[in-house]
Amino acid sequence: MSAELFTHANDEAMRKRAEQVMPGGVYGHMAAHALPLGYPQFTLDGEGVRFRDLDGNEYIDFMCSWGPVVLGRKNPVVEAAVQRQLGLADTVNGAAPVMVELAELLVDTIPHADWAMLAKNGTDATTTCVTIARAATGRRKVLVARGAYHGSAPWCTPGPAGVTPEDRANLSYFDYNDITSLTAAADQAGTDLAAIVLLPGRHDAHRAQELVVPEFAQAARRLCDQHGAALILDDVRWGFRIDVQGSWEPIGVRPDLSAYSKAIANGYPLAAIAGRESLREAARSVYVTGSFWYSAVPMAAAVATITQLRDTDALTRIQVAGERLRDGLLRQAKAYGLDVAHTGPVQAPLLVFADDPAQEIAGRWTSEAVQRGVYLHPWHNWFLAAAHTDTEIDAALERTEEAFAAVARSR
Ligand code: PMP
Repeated sequence: MSAELFTHANDEAMRKRAEQVMPGGVYGHMAAHALPLGYPQFTLDGEGVRFRDLDGNEYIDFMCSWGPVVLGRKNPVVEAAVQRQLGLADTVNGAAPVMVELAELLVDTIPHADWAMLAKNGTDATTTCVTIARAATGRRKVLVARGAYHGSAPWCTPGPAGVTPEDRANLSYFDYNDITSLTAAADQAGTDLAAIVLLPGRHDAHRAQELVVPEFAQAARRLCDQHGAALILDDVRWGFRIDVQGSWEPIGVRPDLSAYSKAIANGYPLAAIAGRESLREAARSVYVTGSFWYSAVPMAAAVATITQLRDTDALTRIQVAGERLRDGLLRQAKAYGLDVAHTGPVQAPLLVFADDPAQEIAGRWTSEAVQRGVYLHPWHNWFLAAAHTDTEIDAALERTEEAFAAVARSR
């Protein structure tokens, strides 16, 4: 007999208040109105990979704030570093010494990095990479994969509202993992090619994920070298979750510039740009900054986070948890006669149902799961964290089994 499904009276009341004073209520990727029935909009508190909504419902979290939480919420080592830095100063005049400490740690950890810069959001990092590439080359054209997400600035936001053709005038598009398409785009840009921007794998929303084909990554490296352009790896989503040295380190392809954010500071707001020696002068020349880019607490959190990812078995635990979740879900789907594919890396997977182009079945399944306390997503990849112990995964699997059963019954 299943437990009673969650209800959301307080959450609904807060949504109504939000809609009065915030256009459309909570917006962007956190807008719960875009999700199926049963998702709370608001979070009250959380620890590890558990969180509670305003109605006291508790969830096992597989979105981890859409990536920032990598060790687990309230990680004691990170929180101790945060408290230490808070006792000194957070948003300072000039910079706190921890900024240099963190830049040193990044240069020491990421093989292609000879220098690092810090910012706030992933969009800051990807945009700064593009700006540095243009400054270095004196060229305009930037190649991006069709459907890839690189942030919410006018040059890259997926929504057309408020964006002018001029904002995109110097972008050209190619298909991910398609060498012919990439080569044609590079040749067309010719002597005006400043950069190729790539995701470490195809993790576009609303579709199955794809790992990078190593030959494709190598072709991108070769094309950039031939054209004198910069290879930019947008590692905002996978960075510090799969390989602490960068998500392409396992395939041995090193970018000229890489963009990080999300997991870098276990939930504290920070982004980083890492670059090669040859781009140091261009990076020095661009004017990029922000009022909160020098806040020291997130930097202290990042030092504690990266050190743990590097020096403990945290990344192995994330992988093991992801494998346990994958194996359990595939076993359950099969038992209920549901045809699913586990796509992408186990650390940031997405389950895709067969014959489900609009993610209706996925939406039904995640809706059933969330109403039983397992927070997944129907069309955006999930995120595993080091706090996903066997116990947490098994507790989640008990409930996903009920969700599969409910979907199977409704077919
Ligand atoms: N690049 C990628 C690959 C991302 O996944 C995201 C965020 N989802 C961004 C850039 C933008 O990061 P932010 O939302 O922090 O600006």
